[in-house]
Amino acid sequence: MTTERTGIVFNHRGGVGHSAAVGLIAVALGAIVFYIDTFTEIEGAIAVLYVIVLLLASEIVTRAGLFLTVAVCIALAVASYVLTHGPDTDLQTFLRLAVSLSALAITMALLLRNEMFRSELLAKNAAIRDSEARYRSIFDRARVALWERDYSQVRSFLMELKGTGISDLRQHAHNHPEVIDRCINLVRTVAANEAAVELLGPLSADGSPGSMARYIASGDLAFLNLMDAIFNEQTYFEGRGNVTTESGETKLVLLSVSFPEDPAAFNRVVVGMVDITQRELTQMALDEARAELTKASKAATVGALSASLAHELNQPLGAIVVNAQTLLRWLDRDPPDLTAVSRSAERIIRDSQRASEIIQNTRNLLSQKESKAEWIDLYALVHETRALMEQDLQRDAILVDVVLSANVPLVKGVRIELQQVMINLMTNAIQAINGANCAIRRITVGIQPLESDKVSLSIRDSGPGISDEAAGKLFAPFYTTKSSGMGMGLSICRSTLEHRGGRLDGFNHPAGGAVFEITLPVEDRHE
Ligand code: ADP
Repeated sequence: MTTERTGIVFNHRGGVGHSAAVGLIAVALGAIVFYIDTFTEIEGAIAVLYVIVLLLASEIVTRAGLFLTVAVCIALAVASYVLTHGPDTDLQTFLRLAVSLSALAITMALLLRNEMFRSELLAKNAAIRDSEARYRSIFDRARVALWERDYSQVRSFLMELKGTGISDLRQHAHNHPEVIDRCINLVRTVAANEAAVELLGPLSADGSPGSMARYIASGDLAFLNLMDAIFNEQTYFEGRGNVTTESGETKLVLLSVSFPEDPAAFNRVVVGMVDITQRELTQMALDEARAELTKASKAATVGALSASLAHELNQPLGAIVVNAQTLLRWLDRDPPDLTAVSRSAERIIRDSQRASEIIQNTRNLLSQKESKAEWIDLYALVHETRALMEQDLQRDAILVDVVLSANVPLVKGVRIELQQVMINLMTNAIQAINGANCAIRRITVGIQPLESDKVSLSIRDSGPGISDEAAGKLFAPFYTTKSSGMGMGLSICRSTLEHRGGRLDGFNHPAGGAVFEITLPVEDRHE
């Protein structure tokens, strides 16, 4: 709305010629009224006729012009009155003048009010035009495919069905599949923006609206969902569906429709569509790749677990063989030393149980079952582990010192797992001491509480320490510097501890030898 209020011509209808004609008639009429009022003997409120002059002027002048006109008319009426009656005026003639002036004032007021309403109407119309233009430009330029569709007929049809007592449209369509096609045919496309034309093709060869049957397959169930939304008088619908483009290509689209509250507005419902065909294909490829990866990683896990099992079982099986040989030797004695035989047999049973627990734990890992966590006294566990390795330690003349700090809390974890880690680290320590043929043959196990609910268990040996070459690769699977090593021990130990919220670090002690430090949370975070 840019026109100024005062600049509006009242009730303007024609061109310049029309205005000039109306202007002349108004001036002539004014002159005639003035003449009759002033120079004839006709008694009556002749000046009332100035109202016609005012009405004519309102056709061609602006608001200021109208004020001027009314002022002139009043001046003429008063002038006639003065000229006709002079100073000796009577009540009757004065009342006639008053009636004429009132008529002019009322007409003026009505014209002004009329003009105000008209201006407001014009402003509203302009605002509607603006918003329509804005909507058009958004509709046309949006990069989302948009259509204006006429759902009024399909709505009426669905409401009629409802009126006949049908309450479940899906059930009804199941029994009468032709209903879906009827609905498809009743939806008309009124307009489509550029993106929509790119997606489905032009409305029709001549650009005229057509039914949806061109894009939607007969009996399409996704379309039934949309109809069901209208049937149940929902305010919006979102769904996926297949559409066939002008070139015959089938596309998967995401459909979004917002229904108007007013049933009369169903003749222009905006429908948005996003082509998700490519996204869906990519997703399918991704899912397939993921499935392949899962298969591959399962195979890798089985491989790693077999390697781990082979490694972990080595120690108890070795111990069983040694104990069995010892047992046979005691039996071969004459007379057999039955006490020693029984001791060896007990060791065999103990190591067999440990082997069985290792297998059980691995099976739990495979079946994703959690092994049982319990409160563990680390000091007791270290002693128990040392007892298990007693033969190796004695054979290689290695001493084990246990240094226990004050206030070490119990830790929650899986006992067999922690024991396996310790056996691995102690076996490495023994091998390091043996490998370097060290004179001092000692393993020191330290247990101490750390800040923030953690406990440290370190195993230090008197071996040569970790070589510079090995330092960066210690925990890498299959890294070994030993001729008969598998290189799995440290990698298994670290992942076992990390799985339970702990960690394992290896470094050289400043005074010589390697240190492997286990850090355990007091509570098993996995629980
Ligand atoms: P493996 O014992 O089969 O070699 P590990 O993973 O247990 O496998 O150890 C990997 C490597 O780390 C060993 O080959 C060795 O070079 C080094 N290492 C492990 N423990 C020690 C230790 N206590 N002292 C020195 N080096 C060690």
